[in-house]
Amino acid sequence: MSKRIVIIGGGYVGLYAAVRLQQRLRRGEAEVTLVNPENFMVYRPLLPEVASGTLEPRHAVVPLRAVLGGTRFVAGRMSAVDTERRTVSVEPEAGPALELPYDELVLGMGAVAKLLPVPGLADFGIGFNSLAEAAHLRDHVLRQLEIASATTDPELRRCALTFVFVGGGYTGVEAIAELQDMAVDVLAGYPEIQPAEMRWVLVEAMDRILTTVSKDLADRSVEELRGRGIDVRLGTQLKSGEKGHMELSDGDEFDAGTLVWVAGTRPSPLANEIGLPVDERGRIQVDETLRVHGHPDIWAAGDCAAVPDTVRGGLCPPTAQFAVRQGRRIGDNLVARVRGGPLQPFAYRSRGEFVTLGKNKAVGEVLGRKVHGPLAWAARRAYYAMQIPTWNRTIRVLGDWLVGMPFGHDVVNLDSREEPREAFQEAAGKHSKI
Ligand SMILES: Cc1cc2nc3c(=O)[nH]c(=O)nc-3n(C[C@H](O)[C@H](O)[C@H](O)COP(=O)(O)OP(=O)(O)OC[C@H]3O[C@@H](n4cnc5c(N)ncnc54)[C@H](O)[C@@H]3O)c2cc1C
Repeated sequence: MSKRIVIIGGGYVGLYAAVRLQQRLRRGEAEVTLVNPENFMVYRPLLPEVASGTLEPRHAVVPLRAVLGGTRFVAGRMSAVDTERRTVSVEPEAGPALELPYDELVLGMGAVAKLLPVPGLADFGIGFNSLAEAAHLRDHVLRQLEIASATTDPELRRCALTFVFVGGGYTGVEAIAELQDMAVDVLAGYPEIQPAEMRWVLVEAMDRILTTVSKDLADRSVEELRGRGIDVRLGTQLKSGEKGHMELSDGDEFDAGTLVWVAGTRPSPLANEIGLPVDERGRIQVDETLRVHGHPDIWAAGDCAAVPDTVRGGLCPPTAQFAVRQGRRIGDNLVARVRGGPLQPFAYRSRGEFVTLGKNKAVGEVLGRKVHGPLAWAARRAYYAMQIPTWNRTIRVLGDWLVGMPFGHDVVNLDSREEPREAFQEAAGKHSKI
């Protein structure tokens, strides 16, 4: 009988596992189902470019139904696993829950923002983990510029022009670098605002940023950011952000119109709630073949799992580079399970990393060589354009970048998309009063 393989999560792990199965399984060997809340996979390393508007949001995602021709796709969110009956419960967007039986289950639910109990953070802050957040932030920054240029209130103006980012990992650095670059570029269209009036602050609790690249590249990045007027505060924490009033641990206090929390992620909370073994950080524990401890028919990888690093020791880092290869390894090991072959351990050595610092600016380490400047920036872009699944997306991404190259950043703010019914409801309200 053909095996039922259910994959939870259509991110790096889920998508690459499913594609591998599609490529390698013969007809009738298994039925594969993939469950994901949205019908696309977010290519997260491109989110900084979505935030700066150099990439269309739709081009930074992979349409799952188009890629997964031989796989059943279910739009929904897994809520529970019954390991005795071998079923998962899935909540679709509307209607009753579904129960999906499995013979093999793959878990790749990824991570969520790691929040700390900072007053005001949950109400006033925003993360930088999803497509919606990246696209919203771009519009939000442009809206702040409009507010500042229109108001006659100096305090409101100062507040609107103050942007605070907390977290100096690659996500925080890339986010502030791309957005500040965009804001400086579009200021040419705002004669009312002087560049020096904008205040961009990067707050990092440790005494350095970018712990995943070498210290000299991190120091170079700090120099570059400070040279552009970004106030990098090392060894500093955000104590409070209540109602937009920032209090830093170095004693500084000021109002800001923007607070972006990019101080790390934690595994999907579901990893801890479904009765599987987890480590102290809530990551599902797996062996080197990516099978969950004590559950030979359940596999987990990516940001929601503690995957042993068989090359360098310790655990694999939560990055796309590793998640892609883990997804493929799960696919290959599932084919081995279906055909009764031996399982192979996951082994991968990172080839390097790039960090974008805005247009024509990046730092990186590739195969042990340090690179920076326009060359690193172009190499990063070329790498991600070639890596994104399907030629369709590669061409769209390259197209956006090539077309954007001779022009400045686009200043159009489309945040009215977030309230599309507002005008209609207003009209309906007025009509009902007549
Ligand atoms: C802004 C940003 C920039 C990054 N840049 C880089 C980079 O340059 N290089 C790099 O290597 N890494 C980068 N990363 C990290 C990288 O994106 C992650 O390590 C990678 O996405 C992890 O893959 P994953 O499959 O575990 O999770 P994800 O890719 O996050 O996929 C998880 C999927 O599971 C779905 N899901 C969650 N809960 C459920 C549920 N209950 N039921 C069904 N589906 C569910 C989610 O909706 C999502 O689609 C970046 C991350 C961010 C946020």
